[in-house]
Amino acid sequence: MKSTPLQHWDIETAKETYGINHWSNGYFDVSDQGEIVITCPVNGHKVNVSLMDIIEGMKDRELHMPVLLRIENLLDHSISRINEAFRAAIEKLEYQNTYRGVFPIKVNQQCHVVEEIAQFGNRYSHGLEAGSKAELIIALASLQNEDSYIVCNGYKDEEFIDLGLRAIQLGWKCFFVVESPTEVEVIVQRSRELGVKPMIGTRVKLSTTVEGHWQHDSGDRSIFGLNSLQLVEVIDLLKDADMLDCLRMLHFHLGSQLPSIHNIRKGVQEACRYYVSMINEGAPMGYLDLGGGLAVDYEGSQQSGTHSKNYTLDEYCIDIVEAVMQTLDPLEIDHPVLISESGRATVAYSSLFLFNVLDVAHFDPVFVIEQPDEDANETLKNLYEVTESINGKNIQECYNDAIFYRDEIRHLFNRGQVDLRTRATAENYFLNIVQQVQALAPGVEHLPDELTNLREDLADIYYGNFSVFQSLPDAWAIGQVFPMLPVHRLNEMPTREAMFADLTCDCDGKIDQFIGGRKTLPLHPLKKGEDYYIGTFLVGAYQETLSDLHNLFGDTNVVSIRINADGSYDFMREIHGDSIADVLSYVEYDPRGLRDKFRNTVEKAVRGGKISVATRQEILSAFSASLDGYTYYEHD
Ligand SMILES: *Cc1c(COP(=O)(O)O)cnc(C)c1O
Repeated sequence: MKSTPLQHWDIETAKETYGINHWSNGYFDVSDQGEIVITCPVNGHKVNVSLMDIIEGMKDRELHMPVLLRIENLLDHSISRINEAFRAAIEKLEYQNTYRGVFPIKVNQQCHVVEEIAQFGNRYSHGLEAGSKAELIIALASLQNEDSYIVCNGYKDEEFIDLGLRAIQLGWKCFFVVESPTEVEVIVQRSRELGVKPMIGTRVKLSTTVEGHWQHDSGDRSIFGLNSLQLVEVIDLLKDADMLDCLRMLHFHLGSQLPSIHNIRKGVQEACRYYVSMINEGAPMGYLDLGGGLAVDYEGSQQSGTHSKNYTLDEYCIDIVEAVMQTLDPLEIDHPVLISESGRATVAYSSLFLFNVLDVAHFDPVFVIEQPDEDANETLKNLYEVTESINGKNIQECYNDAIFYRDEIRHLFNRGQVDLRTRATAENYFLNIVQQVQALAPGVEHLPDELTNLREDLADIYYGNFSVFQSLPDAWAIGQVFPMLPVHRLNEMPTREAMFADLTCDCDGKIDQFIGGRKTLPLHPLKKGEDYYIGTFLVGAYQETLSDLHNLFGDTNVVSIRINADGSYDFMREIHGDSIADVLSYVEYDPRGLRDKFRNTVEKAVRGGKISVATRQEILSAFSASLDGYTYYEHD
């Protein structure tokens, strides 16, 4: 496509086009130079840092694209926000207990992310949620504040339970959330054996169903949690073991990315009924764990769509606190400590993914349109006529004709009746016609569907230096959309419409879904000798650990920065991504063995007189350099 319908372009248009004000949560903006800036609260003041500055700093440190950039301040700020929002709701409604957050490690297990959460969360006693033995080990080693909670979910064997009981011995509040009655027997047995009193929670399966991507996992068919029959079984088992006094918590988790506040409220109400019932059964209780689900507005539409949410953080907290009070107060039941396990909303904003564009495929005519010779093929001449005669009144007809003639030429070519140049000329005419249709379309009333979609059919393909499977796995697996846009040149009008293809040779290695339901993204034409950088935002949750090694593209470089109050920033951590030798060893190759084998092959070529010894050395160095190099596209 040649042009977007836009006539006028300035920074405001840029912000509107890419929806920045809607999804950025105030953390990202556009500078007068047309560059994305991180706008970050430091000691109560907003500080701006240009992403292009940071990219320059990365270049100086030989941290090549693609890069995952973490901004520590934003993680810090997210943890504060959620704790402060609950604190405010509790104060406003005069709730008689406190809030404690726990971060579910599965959402981002990277060592320095968990370390930062433990560090920034210290002042709020923000704890960790562990879904496996490995995650419990991370929690035990990372938390610095004994007041922080550890919540253990998932199926637990003896070893898992022993480790949790030891944590209690050390003074931690470590909860076992029971998902099945059989687990209770192991807990009873191990705690007797070790002489440690456990803190037990029960995860209940609510019948409240939710909207959004995980819709089918809520309600009766949810694979997790106890139904009311099993809950009674658990209570009876504990009663029989004389351990009902260990039953302290009710836990529920409605699913991730809950778009509608209405569902959340209903879920809390149902959960509170279970809470009350457990008190009535004689359990001391005292803790209500609301699970995760606090959504991120990836689209910025503030609606109850899959990639959005129809509530603010403040409303979320108020509605939860209010719903709990409405159920418990009439029964004069003490307010429990409220725990939430927000993962996505805690880490999503703090990471963004940057890649450069390597090449572009256009669907534009390549040659100047010229009239065919007198003796040219008749169909080709007909197609040329269409290029001449198209106007606002006949576009559907012309479009139909163009397809007919183009297909006819393709048939003729397949039967060997026209040559390559004739076919290429016909394709060139066709692209010209489609472009004319496209240009005329906005002025036509009642445009047929096939003509409205032309914009997508003709979109450019921008080849990005990344792997969807490694860096944005949810975009592939569950159709997750993330805000994407160029991080510079935003003071220039983007005149192309494009989708992205990645470096893998997989037809799924593409991004053709963008926020706002768009299938293409406005982009700038590439400039010779100048890199073009695309940012994908809000990628801090789930993307890193779900990633895979498709086509052996490995972990990308990771940079972690901390922004200072004076607008300077420090590179806190730099992690070089996988080398080719690294990824080969993940699939059980031995890099040294590969070198040896290849050396033999090259040596044979020397013996056979195919190459000189000097060439042998060059070939071997190139091989070694490749093994040690980055798995992505490298250029000087
Ligand atoms: C995944 C998960 C979470 C995190 O949910 P988010 O929607 O990312 O906040 C919390 N609790 C449990 C039990 C989970 O399985």
